[in-house]
Amino acid sequence: MLDYLIKNATLSTRKDRVDIAIENGRFVEIAPQIDAPANDQFDADGCLVCPPFVDSHFHMDATLSLGLPRYNQSGTLLEGIQIWSELKPELTAEAVKQRALELLTWSIAKGTLCIRTHVDVTDPSLLAVDVLLEVREEMKEWIDLQIVAFPQDGVLRTDGGKELLLRALDKGVDVVGGIPHFERTMAQGSESISWLCSVAESRGLLVDMHCDESDDPLSRHIEHLTYETRRMGLGKRVTASHLTSMHSMDNYYVSKLLPLMAESGIQAISNPLINIHLQGRHDTYPKRRGLTRVPEMLEAGVNVAFGHDCVMDPWYPMGTHDMLEVAHMAAHCLQMMGASQASTLVDMVTSRGAAVMNLEGYGIEVGNQADCVVLQAKSAMDALRLKPVRLLVMRKGKIIASTPPVKATINLNGIQEVNFTI
Ligand SMILES: [Zn+2]
Repeated sequence: MLDYLIKNATLSTRKDRVDIAIENGRFVEIAPQIDAPANDQFDADGCLVCPPFVDSHFHMDATLSLGLPRYNQSGTLLEGIQIWSELKPELTAEAVKQRALELLTWSIAKGTLCIRTHVDVTDPSLLAVDVLLEVREEMKEWIDLQIVAFPQDGVLRTDGGKELLLRALDKGVDVVGGIPHFERTMAQGSESISWLCSVAESRGLLVDMHCDESDDPLSRHIEHLTYETRRMGLGKRVTASHLTSMHSMDNYYVSKLLPLMAESGIQAISNPLINIHLQGRHDTYPKRRGLTRVPEMLEAGVNVAFGHDCVMDPWYPMGTHDMLEVAHMAAHCLQMMGASQASTLVDMVTSRGAAVMNLEGYGIEVGNQADCVVLQAKSAMDALRLKPVRLLVMRKGKIIASTPPVKATINLNGIQEVNFTI
């Protein structure tokens, strides 16, 4: 007897509809028709079943703090950092934990079950580090959390920054972070990259730096991060987040940079919602979009994923932690609406994000942990167009969230139902 059977599923990887059998928390068979009895089953009726959404770049210590202690009036990254620095001394463990746990209920409802969150390690109390380590442990049954030691104010610019970052790693933080463009000088940015990569190398850890989150085309820290990635043989263990300066770089320079990135194995993350909101703020008109060169990086062979980055915090007042909203924004800002690009966009909030996080056993394949999401949509393009409800969210073979299908009733001289899946 199977534990669970999903009938008539559409998978992005196959043309025909399939049934998906689940036993002991794992996918045990995927075939056009499975007739074995099951304790419970769900008829997907051709709806898209995808692996859980992956948010490869988030800030869970700041989430849901919007308006504390004040709102960001300029809409710039730098005012956001200033507001966060005013809030930091006021943070309590209870409040940070309560906000993080509330956010995770939103994530689960939206089928986002893998999250890489940065945590600020320039607060001398490391209070948020302790809270997020607790949250990672308490929520591990339902969600995979990876934590990045993120020196928000600069690892060199902050007094004792190196010691604080190392203490956070000693506590059990998973990934080494950085912010070279926020150090005092370009040279110190480079120095921070070399030191942070050597820490990751010696401890066998992953790296994910905020890199060149700027409209300054001469912010070229990605060049040095790529160099160190190759020199130390870190390859896909290293990720560069944001890379917004690349939007404004000279085309000739980028034509040299992209092959070097591909050669090193470095991965990249773009944060479309936040980049379109924060970048170009010093422009009059025309205003730059500020997103990094995603199609070009993919073309060059660099893996790219999307992050949500923020939900209701000093940098971004909106969001529900819906990764399809991120992909929808990307489709517009990156001009990626070609028919074949829809599935690539969905990959960037699923499998490509899992590759950034170096997750193992991810995806709807026999033998993998039975984690998946059933969307009220029948194709990748509809997943983007409709930002559909998550009919079911499954983790380890158990349904952990569900939302009823959306239907509207309209009355134009006679009642008619509108089904949003078509
Ligand atoms: Zn960030």
